[in-house]
Amino acid sequence: MIDAVCTYGGKRKTYTIFNFQNLSSSDIEKYRQYLECPNPKCAAEAYYRRKSIDGKAACFGSRYHTQGCNEGRSSPQREREVRQAIEVNKIIADSKEVIFDFFAVDSQPPEKSNTVSPPISKSASLGSSKSHTSTKATFRNTVLGMEKALNSLLRGSDLAQSDTTITIDEKYSYKAKNLFVNFADAEPADSPKDARPKMFWGTISHSDADMEWLNPAECNDVGIPIKRYKNKIFKRFKITEKRDLEGAGFIIFGKCFWNAQKTRKIIELWNADRVFISVDED
Ligand SMILES: [Zn+2]
Repeated sequence: MIDAVCTYGGKRKTYTIFNFQNLSSSDIEKYRQYLECPNPKCAAEAYYRRKSIDGKAACFGSRYHTQGCNEGRSSPQREREVRQAIEVNKIIADSKEVIFDFFAVDSQPPEKSNTVSPPISKSASLGSSKSHTSTKATFRNTVLGMEKALNSLLRGSDLAQSDTTITIDEKYSYKAKNLFVNFADAEPADSPKDARPKMFWGTISHSDADMEWLNPAECNDVGIPIKRYKNKIFKRFKITEKRDLEGAGFIIFGKCFWNAQKTRKIIELWNADRVFISVDED
């Protein structure tokens, strides 16, 4: 994306990436959670990524372009996300119960099995995959992990509306629609002890200067402290600079509660393993 529309203060202003990166850093911090794809038919939530230390240019981007939006180029990452959204739609259409495995590895090529994935077509809508499901097929794959869940949610799978039961740690059951919550819809409890853990997902807009707080792109009233787990998380996802976080998809298992002043929602991670970050490969 060369341009993005900023909706800060209820006004719509189009910025070129050149103009935006030359704003003061306080203006960038102010506006960056109000960016949209400039295609009015898409208007997807967008983000700003600063220039990298090794010289990659600053850019705008979005993880949510609609099918057919010409601002959203096809990429291996996007194709993988669409494929995983189709897989997840199949899983939830065919299973009443899914086991959630926080350690599942999803990014390997799919194993050979008796199920055939439908071909990926850039123009195919996700919903159409259901018609490819063979009538009597049984699916061994009723295990879902963080990466596949996240990628499918980013690409608009049915997971966040599904009645399928998701079981966590072999004993806690949730309906999928009550478990997967976009950051914009996070409902805080009054205190950590009152909060039931859920799977919060969305995109990272930016971190603070010390990379110890993450701010979602979808809203500006949620903060996610990661200081305790930072080293482990950054090592696992190969995050070395702030730009790596900007525009990354992420999903975390944690609790949402008000801060002491009731001005900001805090989402506290369960532990360093219950997070998945999908760095934007563009
Ligand atoms: Zn778009």
